[in-house]
Amino acid sequence: MIKRNYINVIGAGLAGCEAAFAIASFGIKVKLFDMKPTQRSAAHKSDYPAELVCSNSFKAKSTGNASGILKEEMKILSSIVMESAYINEVPAGGALAVDRAQFSKYIFNIINKNKKIELVNREVTEIPSEEITIIATGPLTSKRLADRIIELTGRDNLYFFDAAAPVVSADLINFNKVFKASRYGKGSDDYINCPMDRNQYSEFYNFLINAETSSLRKFEGVSIFEGCMPVEVMGKRGFDTLRFGPMKPVGLLDPAIGKEPFAVVQLRSENKENSMYNLVGFQTNLKFGEQKKLLTLIPGLEKAEIVRHGVMHRNTYINSPGFLNKFLQVKEKPNLFFAGQITGVEGYLESAATGIAAGINSVRYLKSEKFIDLPNETMIGSLCNYVSGYCGKNFQPMNANFGILPPLEKIIKNKKERKTKMSCRAIEAMKVISEEII
Ligand SMILES: Cc1cc2nc3c(=O)[nH]c(=O)nc-3n(C[C@H](O)[C@H](O)[C@H](O)COP(=O)(O)OP(=O)(O)OC[C@H]3O[C@@H](n4cnc5c(N)ncnc54)[C@H](O)[C@@H]3O)c2cc1C
Repeated sequence: MIKRNYINVIGAGLAGCEAAFAIASFGIKVKLFDMKPTQRSAAHKSDYPAELVCSNSFKAKSTGNASGILKEEMKILSSIVMESAYINEVPAGGALAVDRAQFSKYIFNIINKNKKIELVNREVTEIPSEEITIIATGPLTSKRLADRIIELTGRDNLYFFDAAAPVVSADLINFNKVFKASRYGKGSDDYINCPMDRNQYSEFYNFLINAETSSLRKFEGVSIFEGCMPVEVMGKRGFDTLRFGPMKPVGLLDPAIGKEPFAVVQLRSENKENSMYNLVGFQTNLKFGEQKKLLTLIPGLEKAEIVRHGVMHRNTYINSPGFLNKFLQVKEKPNLFFAGQITGVEGYLESAATGIAAGINSVRYLKSEKFIDLPNETMIGSLCNYVSGYCGKNFQPMNANFGILPPLEKIIKNKKERKTKMSCRAIEAMKVISEEII
């Protein structure tokens, strides 16, 4: 007999917090479990929930971008991640970046004050069988619970590598060598840009591709997610690959030379005080000593202190297609839902958004009501559709992007116009469906 007076949410990350908040907003009690602070994954450092383990950016704000659409949809669904992000925003040009400590603290306070949510700090090692439960334990799900999930799915779990970028403290950046600007002047001078000429880039490049990396033995045989490719792996693809990727100089005018530099390393503020900066797109698996040496080859960062090294980590996700339905519910165990990165979505916002979707529908299940079917025209609906309905042989995690949305009825050749139409369609569809979610 399934208990129907509360819902468990396992994992108080981005997805779990959204799910708990969504459930509580319907007046239903939630037990929100997290193994922090007594036990932590290799990437989690903070005692607070909804921790951003790497970049502090939620990507572009503009609804001309897939990520911007996702933000608008989440706002319509009363996302606490969005609420906290805008309150704790730090300057980042056209992107939405946050002070990560304040961001998590804000969410912690909201959860703590909510009488319907009980935050329980312990590792969950068994999947409750007679209770309604959402598993949102993320890419670094603890080993004991991951083993239970493997037993449940009846298939091998899938692993691949992901990587995080280093963070440096601001005080030892040489501001005489860098310049502040946003690409094409969008936003204010939100980024610190470390410009390189051809010789500097060559020296940097040669060091990077020959530098020593940390051992990846325990993950042998698994692939690296393209969207989070370490710089050294990218660099080995060719001399210019980085100049067309994270080190691209286009739209950045170096005032010292009056033109775009040959290559650039961009730094984005980590907090409101601007005391720490992360190296944008510089996720890496280089040994810590090598990361330090690499910085000495970046103009302006020669003496910079690394406050958090780049790391590579495991990413755990289930083989969702066929196992979950579009409501993120386990087909053969309807009292169980999954949310967040573990479902095979990729990214902070994508994870958080599926938390809202699972939260809403777990309540529907509790009340024996019809599920809310988020239309495929919406970014969240199409993400849920992707993870549950992918038909190919090689299921890979998915970011929000225009490719997963259904095409428009009328073909529009102009890319910008097409995206605008898709964006309006998504937001409109979300507004309409949100009327049903009361
Ligand atoms: C190192 C790293 C870097 C990343 N960098 C980025 C990035 O820069 N940008 C981006 O968009 N995405 C990034 N991601 C991917 C992804 O967006 C984040 O992992 C995101 O936090 C996933 O959200 P989630 O809620 O699914 O999981 P999480 O935010 O990881 O939350 C899961 C929670 O579950 C808890 N937990 C785990 N097991 C148990 C258990 N058995 N019992 C109780 N609690 C448990 C954990 O302590 C954690 O608090 C990164 C991932 C990693 C691991």
